[in-house]
Amino acid sequence: MPTPIKSLSFAAIYELCEQLGQPKYRADQLIQWLFVKQASSYDEMTNLPKAFREALAKDYPLIPAKLIDKQISNDGTRKYCFELADGARVESVGIPVFKEGSDGDLRSLTVCFSTQVGCPMACAFCATGTEGLTRDLSSGEMVDQVAFIQDDFNARVSHVVSMGQGEPFLNYDATIEALDLLNSKKGFGIGARHITVSTCGIIPGIERLAEDPHQYTLAVSLHSAEQVIRDMLMPRCSAQTLPQLKQALQFYQEKTGRRVSFEYLMINGVNDTDAALESLIEFSRGIMCHVNLIPLNDVDHSAFKPSSKDMITHWKNVLTRVGIETTIRNSRGSDIDGACGQLKNKLLS
Ligand code: SF4
Repeated sequence: MPTPIKSLSFAAIYELCEQLGQPKYRADQLIQWLFVKQASSYDEMTNLPKAFREALAKDYPLIPAKLIDKQISNDGTRKYCFELADGARVESVGIPVFKEGSDGDLRSLTVCFSTQVGCPMACAFCATGTEGLTRDLSSGEMVDQVAFIQDDFNARVSHVVSMGQGEPFLNYDATIEALDLLNSKKGFGIGARHITVSTCGIIPGIERLAEDPHQYTLAVSLHSAEQVIRDMLMPRCSAQTLPQLKQALQFYQEKTGRRVSFEYLMINGVNDTDAALESLIEFSRGIMCHVNLIPLNDVDHSAFKPSSKDMITHWKNVLTRVGIETTIRNSRGSDIDGACGQLKNKLLS
């Protein structure tokens, strides 16, 4: 049974090239063609020996991801749904920030990419969480999302964040392989400080990232610093308690000296109470952090509704007053099925 080449990890591609009797630099060239130059067939790879290309084409077909749907928001955000070689579907988002007063000149372009097909974490507020995990993405399938969006905007991607579908730390090796190519000068040249790994708080992953030499930015989807509420919102995180999470974050900071971002979806009447605010302040004590308050996207049929603007502003003011740097993040693309999993679920329903 042929194996699509893009489903292999970079490590597996190096091994395969070795098995086919090729030196390491050939594997480097092949990875360049596949993921940086985005070749659509082996015929394009003219600096690779013909016999090598034929051997690859026979057993490892090159099947590029297919764009299934694209939606463009009024604010310029573009949301994509891709079909992979095995028919699995993933979503990614391109988020442009325009220069003030310009006619569409970009100041930055952020890509939010997926790391898994579906997600096993079952967060209660998340459309992807309802479908469970289908499979992990390969490193190349992650990079392809970024490359496609770069082409589609015809502009250099300046920032990437693994905040699409899936939990990156449950697919750690492939995620780091992808980030390393995105960071590498021979790849996409995106600075490590502009690369964010977002996790719902998988402790072994945080500990591994603390030791990673690249020092990518860490964002933790906290959503509540009250154990009972967090367990309800993020049931599969419950084995890793908030005190354990805090300890892991302090370890990460000792090792890297880097600030952590806390993502906090503001949900009306659930995690926006006075007690919730006090708990967040207490949790943040002793951690160098930046809190992003994010109004929940209003999803059809969801029991959860966004907090009021006044409440979110109140939280920002209180957090800032006690010395916690806080930003209210505008929800981008909310008019185009912006919440994770929504677009794909709509296409499948
Ligand atoms: S919010 Fe993230 S971690 Fe939670 S279910 Fe959705 S994709 Fe998975």
